[in-house]
This record gives sequence, structure tokens and C-alpha cells, in this order.
Amino acid sequence: MINYTKDIEVLLHKLYPITRSITGDGNRDSLNIIKELIPINVIEYPTGQNVYDWSIPKEWNIKDAWIKNSKGEKIIDFKNSNLHVVSYSTPVNKKMSFDELKSNLHFIKELPQAIPYRTSYYNENWGFCISYDEYQTLFCEDEYYEVFIDSSLKDGSLSIGELLIKGKSEKEYLISCYICHPSMANDSLSGVITTTFIAKELLKKQAELEHSYRIVFVPETIGAISYCANNEKVMKKIDNGLVITTCGGQGDFGYKQSWEKTNFINQIVEDVFKQNKIEFKTYPFDIHGSDERQYSSQGFKINCTTISKDKYYEYKEYHTSLDNLDFVKAENLNKTLDLYLQLIEKMDKNIIYKNLYPNCEVMLSKHDLYPKTGGALLPNTNVSQLDIILWSLYYMDGTYSLYDISKRLDVDIALIYKEAKILESKQIIEKIYE
Ligand code: ZN
Repeated sequence: MINYTKDIEVLLHKLYPITRSITGDGNRDSLNIIKELIPINVIEYPTGQNVYDWSIPKEWNIKDAWIKNSKGEKIIDFKNSNLHVVSYSTPVNKKMSFDELKSNLHFIKELPQAIPYRTSYYNENWGFCISYDEYQTLFCEDEYYEVFIDSSLKDGSLSIGELLIKGKSEKEYLISCYICHPSMANDSLSGVITTTFIAKELLKKQAELEHSYRIVFVPETIGAISYCANNEKVMKKIDNGLVITTCGGQGDFGYKQSWEKTNFINQIVEDVFKQNKIEFKTYPFDIHGSDERQYSSQGFKINCTTISKDKYYEYKEYHTSLDNLDFVKAENLNKTLDLYLQLIEKMDKNIIYKNLYPNCEVMLSKHDLYPKTGGALLPNTNVSQLDIILWSLYYMDGTYSLYDISKRLDVDIALIYKEAKILESKQIIEKIYE
């Protein structure tokens, strides 16, 4: 098993405190930290650019925010938690009564110690998020408060990170994560960090990769939409992808199926869980969720899956200050990273070949393909090397993928791939790119 635990720990602590949103310097700072590990391009899409039915919003930045009581004591301070301010809050500098302030205070009664995460991206507004405990102990009905938010909403740009890792084929897989959440660890830092180390591993193995990988770090929704709009042609050629998020919690593993339930990517995820003897929950495709919503839209129809550990919506700490570095541990993330790498390794080998000798069998001995060991079964399988060669040639008519063949023979795709590479080197089969 790979061991990135220490590196994950370092990156978690570097990225966690940064105030991110759908735009702003926090996103750039985060992308630049990631850039120290993998060579991403940071791309800026300008405010006002039309992207399908949307347009890139103004850039939001925030320096400070607080609420003071009538004694002049800071009772809520953005410097203690960047979740205290509703993301995209407009600037405020005003004294007001509790009544006036009340409608701009957000808390969760059922989780009295948690500061909720709230946003107001497309509706100009401001607000503070506080724990219910703070609401009860720090605020009084007939008090006056001084409210200060030093934020700005200006023409600027939306930042995304992009890395294209080229393999032997131009056929691409998409790997997408989102960088728009402030200090929360499972949603969405776990996805950002897992994606970063996936990219690092893919770069190490680049010479062997059969597919190319388009890796993007985007703010959720608007970032994915902007990326699709600016890269429509290449995105339309992609059939499969991973949307990586909420994968480092303490609860159960699970996976969200891609829009086409029977797609090989869903089956491979299940294979990986089973091979690792991991119990998992299955979440059928749902139009709510993350950026698979954009990638699965009619114009793109990319089959995207998500391996999760404490999936969004499913854990009580979700979208609160309790989704923190106590909740997400580097060891858990390393385990998920390992599963994702196993998944990608299988996905990468899923190629379609065509037998160049369709008329009767090839003479194996002439091509030095007749196994010297005869009919001995391969370890942990019910097939011999000869079976794999013969069945592969039988199926390889340009429609069956290596994964299809592996399922029919009930062996791991790696075994089929190994023989296919030999057949390919002897020019008996050739790759088909859809
Ligand atoms: Zn979220």
C-alpha cells in the first residue's frame, strides 16, 4: 500500500485554515500550495464571462469581520473561524439592535457547538454563522451591537487549477475536485488532497499510462460549468471520470454510482471494495450532489463515480465547524487514496482491442505464444495463460473491452492486460479508440 500519510498531514494543515469561496485570493493561495506538489496551470476566468446559462460572478475577498457588544467586546471574530461569516457577505459597518441583527445570525439548534457553513453567492446579503451556544450566551434581546465585515465584491476572476497528464492514448479520463469550501476537512479538503496525490502518483507512472488524465480543481458548480464552457470540445470526448469529495471521515466507505448504473466504472469500484474486503454503501445516481451534475448533463454525459468515506449529506458534522481536523485523519485519507489508485489502475487498463486475425485461430507457436507451462491454472484463478490468450482473441472484435473480458473469465483485468500487451507487441491485436 502507498504511504502518503505524512505528506497528507502536512497538506491538510497547510490548506485547512485558508478562506476559500467560489472566487478570491484564498482559492489562488490554495492552488499555489498544490502547485508546489504537482505542476498545475492556474487559469483565471474573468468576472462577467458568460458560461452557458451562468456568468462568472464578481470576485469576493474578505480581510476581517466581527460583532462587538455594547461594551465594545468582540463576541464573534472571523479570525477565530472563517465559517463565522456567510460566504460572499457584502461589506457592513453598522450599529444595530438585536432585532435587526437577528435575521442575519445563523446557527443549528440541534448541534449547539457547531458553527454552520452558509453561503450567499448569487443573492447580495450578509450574515454571521455562530454556534447555538454562542447565540444563547453572548446575545441579549435589548442589546445593541456593532457589526463589521471588511469584504469586497469586485470585478476580478474565478481561479481553477488544471493538469493534463498524457498517457499513450489521447482518450481522457476526468478527475475533478472542488476548492470552494473554507475551513472544513472532509467536505471538501479530503477531495482536494486525494486528487493532488493521485496526480503525483500518475505523474510517477506516466510512461506506463494507457489513458490521459484531465485533472481539475474548480469551485463547485460555477467552476465546473465554467470549465465545461471553456473546454467544451475536449470535455465532450470524455466518457468517464471521478468526482472526488468527502472521502476522509471516520464513518463508512461508500460510492455514488455514475448516471449509467451498469457502466464499467461502477463495477470496478465494487471490485476494488470487494478485493480489499471493505464493506461499502451504494448510493445510486442522484441529480443532487456535486459536479457530476454538470458532467452528467445532456451535452456531456460523463459517467462519474465518487468513492466516499462519510459522504456529503450523510454525516452530522457536514457543513459545520465540526468537519475539522479531528474528524478527518491523514491515515484515513491515505487509505481512500490507495483505493482510488487501485480503481484508476484498473480503469487505465480498460482498453478495447481488435483481433487482426479474425479468420480462424492464429498459430500460437509460430508467434511464440504457446505457453511453455501448458495448462497450469494461474494462481487464484480457474484459467490458464492459454485460456486467457484464446478467450481474449475470441472476444476481441473491437467491441469488448478488457474489463468485459476479465468479467467473462472471472479474473482481474491486470491478467488480461498482461497477455493483451504481448499479443499487441506481436501485432496480432490492435487498440481501438472510440
Ligand atoms: Zn459542501
